[in-house]
Amino acid sequence: MSIGIVGTGISGLHLALRLRQFGIDVTLYAAQDPDDIRSGPLLNLVTRFDSTREREKALGVTRWASGEYDNAWMHLSVEGPDGMSFRAQLPRPASSVDFRMYLATLLEEYQQRGGNAVRRGVADRAELARLAERHELVVVAAGRGALTDAFPRDAARSPYTSAPRRLAAGLFHGVRPPEPSGMTMHMVPGAGEVHAPTYHSFGGQLTGVLVEAVPGGPFAAVTDRNHRDDPEGFAQAVLELITTHTPTLRERVDEREFALARPVDLLQGAVVPVVRQGWARLSDDRYALAVGDAWIANDPLTAQGANLGSTLAFQLADVLREHDGPYDGTFCRTVSERLWATAQPIVDWTNMFVGPPPPQMGTLLAACAADQRMADAFVAHLDRPGAMWRHIRRPEHTDDFIARTLAVRSGV
Ligand SMILES: Cc1cc2nc3c(=O)[nH]c(=O)nc-3n(C[C@H](O)[C@H](O)[C@H](O)COP(=O)(O)OP(=O)(O)OC[C@H]3O[C@@H](n4cnc5c(N)ncnc54)[C@H](O)[C@@H]3O)c2cc1C
Repeated sequence: MSIGIVGTGISGLHLALRLRQFGIDVTLYAAQDPDDIRSGPLLNLVTRFDSTREREKALGVTRWASGEYDNAWMHLSVEGPDGMSFRAQLPRPASSVDFRMYLATLLEEYQQRGGNAVRRGVADRAELARLAERHELVVVAAGRGALTDAFPRDAARSPYTSAPRRLAAGLFHGVRPPEPSGMTMHMVPGAGEVHAPTYHSFGGQLTGVLVEAVPGGPFAAVTDRNHRDDPEGFAQAVLELITTHTPTLRERVDEREFALARPVDLLQGAVVPVVRQGWARLSDDRYALAVGDAWIANDPLTAQGANLGSTLAFQLADVLREHDGPYDGTFCRTVSERLWATAQPIVDWTNMFVGPPPPQMGTLLAACAADQRMADAFVAHLDRPGAMWRHIRRPEHTDDFIARTLAVRSGV
């Protein structure tokens, strides 16, 4: 069997490395080589939870396994007059490493293990169809770019038609880590959120700042102005936002030192949340499957997209190991629905969190602020998205989650 994989993000690379472990013939189509990836602009501010780190161990990727890269704590605050806050330790630490380093290293690792990588960007569906003739199946892991045209939007699973947040992110000097060190999320009702995780990048330990702006709200001045030619102006605008809206984050900032680490350490844009049809017919007998952001794009608010891409890559690898063809329409539809069972809770949870807050969200956050046992349970669920969604999808489920957490953990 021969599988072609287009894209060298976490979805494509975890899939390629896993299939090689299974002895399956893989060709990886890479639009960039490792040096291009390293020298490019900031890609995201991904935090990888323990489940993803466990998959890295299974892949034999140990570069970031040491405690030096751990982010063990999550701090959450709701800013403003009705503010509240809590913090909790993840059951097992997450890790936040610059994806330019992470992906370049994984691609090198794949090549060093003898993996077949072809330097090639695939322009469009027609080129994808030509490529598919060389393989029994192609997997599109090319993110939110051009090839998504091959996979129509699934309207029933995609409640948004525009981006619910505008995004601006950068890596900064001059922000002390929180105590204990880890990730912080500052929610500003009506305006959006600011994430500020401790982040490992080329200059060592920095702080990532991600502004998620409700369109038209007070954060939009930062996200909607094009900062590419004015990185210093960007840093100044972020500092003003932090000073005005997130006092708990401002306490960590030394304004004399506060600066973007490098001009390339800046990212602006928006994600329109979308679920696409997970497969495409390319010719009479050739099909493509989509994984990761190419299939499902979520707003980064819940920190799930890359973790989901890795999860789906492993699940797909298991399916391909069990099934040696034919990779026809029935196969692709069936696999796609099987993977959707994993993805759906993440999509629904994330879409709920970027929408107008439902009453159970206030109930849940207040319970976390009031009782450490709830804070621990909530933070533990960041890496258990299926269970998280079961507990928050309706107010009565949240009430039940709170009651059971407090009862069980008090030994009632
Ligand atoms: C600011 C921000 C913060 C985030 N924070 C988190 C977080 O904390 N946790 C989390 O889990 N997720 C987070 N995410 C989401 C996460 O970054 C994505 O979900 C994830 O990286 C998607 O991985 P992917 O491999 O599916 O796609 P991508 O990373 O987009 O990779 C696509 C690959 O395909 C290649 N490619 C594209 N087009 C072509 C083509 N035509 N031909 C060949 N190759 C092509 C690209 O070069 C790239 O290598 C965040 C996103 C943003 C923007």
